[in-house]
Amino acid sequence: MKVSIIGTGYVGIVTGACLAQAGHEVICVDLDPAKVALLASGQPTCHEEGLAELVARHAGTRLRATQDLAAAVRATELTMIAVGTPSHEGRIDLRHVLGAAAQIGAALRDKPGRHCVVVKSTVVPGTTDGPVREALEAASGRVAGAGFGLGMNPEFLTEGTAVADFSRPDRLVLGGVDAATHDTLAALYGGFAGVPVIRTDNATAEMIKYASNAALATMISFANELSRLARRLPGVDIAEVTRGVHLSQYFTTRLADGRALRAPIASFLEAGCGFGGSCLPKDVTALAAQGESLGLSMPMLRAVLAVNRTQPDELFALLARHHPRLAGVPVTVLGLAFKPDTDDVRESPAFPVVARLRALGARISAYDPVVGPATGADRLEALAGVRFAADLADAVAQAEVVILVTRWAQFQALADVLRAAGRAPLVIDGRRVLEPADFARYEGIGRAAATPAQPQPDRSDLAAACR
Ligand code: NAD
Repeated sequence: MKVSIIGTGYVGIVTGACLAQAGHEVICVDLDPAKVALLASGQPTCHEEGLAELVARHAGTRLRATQDLAAAVRATELTMIAVGTPSHEGRIDLRHVLGAAAQIGAALRDKPGRHCVVVKSTVVPGTTDGPVREALEAASGRVAGAGFGLGMNPEFLTEGTAVADFSRPDRLVLGGVDAATHDTLAALYGGFAGVPVIRTDNATAEMIKYASNAALATMISFANELSRLARRLPGVDIAEVTRGVHLSQYFTTRLADGRALRAPIASFLEAGCGFGGSCLPKDVTALAAQGESLGLSMPMLRAVLAVNRTQPDELFALLARHHPRLAGVPVTVLGLAFKPDTDDVRESPAFPVVARLRALGARISAYDPVVGPATGADRLEALAGVRFAADLADAVAQAEVVILVTRWAQFQALADVLRAAGRAPLVIDGRRVLEPADFARYEGIGRAAATPAQPQPDRSDLAAACR
């Protein structure tokens, strides 16, 4: 099938490369000339395992890139909208989606034959059949259903494992205004044999995506709230608690290929220093806001967000046991990406951690295997004044405190690196991925101190900042 994808961000490029791999002819469109140039030269536009190989294999043949949206639409049979849907004042901002829809509609005005438009961006229920349909119909002079197909196909990939997730999806949700739209989408995904398919209407497809993200966020905040209690209960370790819960048959589900989804694959019940990224925070916020705009109170979703907002405080509560004051103390933050194996820093918990450290006067270094000056992170205002370390050894060379924020596999080497350097800083494990016995001084989220914390004699800056 000939497919155009509007928006070459994380979702657009992965979708484009994987559909090209599946045999389709794909044109990726973006407003950003730098992304188009990268893709046209056979390079990926973001850091994702396996993406560079796919792009190199198909660029210039089955995978093309352009800034010319109208030409891309006219040259294809199906157009996916994969632009961003950021949060604006707590509500979904549909500016990019509606802008793209209007441009697609204009391109369809004179295009002969049936064309299918599919929303892949995450949009609140009612958007595709409401404002997107209106924008398309107004600009094209055609009516959805009779004049063009209109579908909604939410994307469930996770950054860091996006290519694998897209290539082996756990489900396909195909929303559409009519059977013809469903059939077109089913043909697009024809190569994904054995994957459960839900054919539904557009609003339900939209809601499935939000409900899925809200469920994951709820599990994380649930585990995080319990981690706060566990920290105060000697002998109780949240990592062991969640492992025990994960093994319940009620948390065990099967992937399409028959693999049981159990811990450690089912990592959403793990306590940590909070969720981030471009999806969970904004999507839960948008869903709560939609409910509230309809006169509902959404206390559960609001609580999920509140727990997440304050979860980085747990790191500082652990820190306060050892360092009542941080002024002038060299502190290293390990991980800037919101999760491992991605260069995406949107809503990363590293930012509130850095902000708090700065307010407390710490000397901050940071190290991330992917995010750094080369990805422009040094230009982020939130990281002003932070020293970017070249590698793990450089990151911890001077550190008195090391705070692990992102679950990068490389950080497993921390104990060896410290041993080689003859250093024993306080290690605060924000993701519970390190072995406590490997460190002279270790604190982990959701775990009581080996030696009970001493009450702070003074109401220090740090202790006062932590509940
Ligand atoms: P992104 O911000 O990385 O990329 C969006 C791209 O769209 C940008 O490159 C921008 O320049 C481009 N764009 C905007 N308007 C355009 C237009 N009119 N024409 C051409 N290009 C245009 O966004 P993303 O992270 O890929 O997310 C896209 C959507 O998918 C969002 O709704 C998001 O919630 C959803 N989603 C994201 C993920 C994820 O892990 N990132 C997962 C599932 C769903």
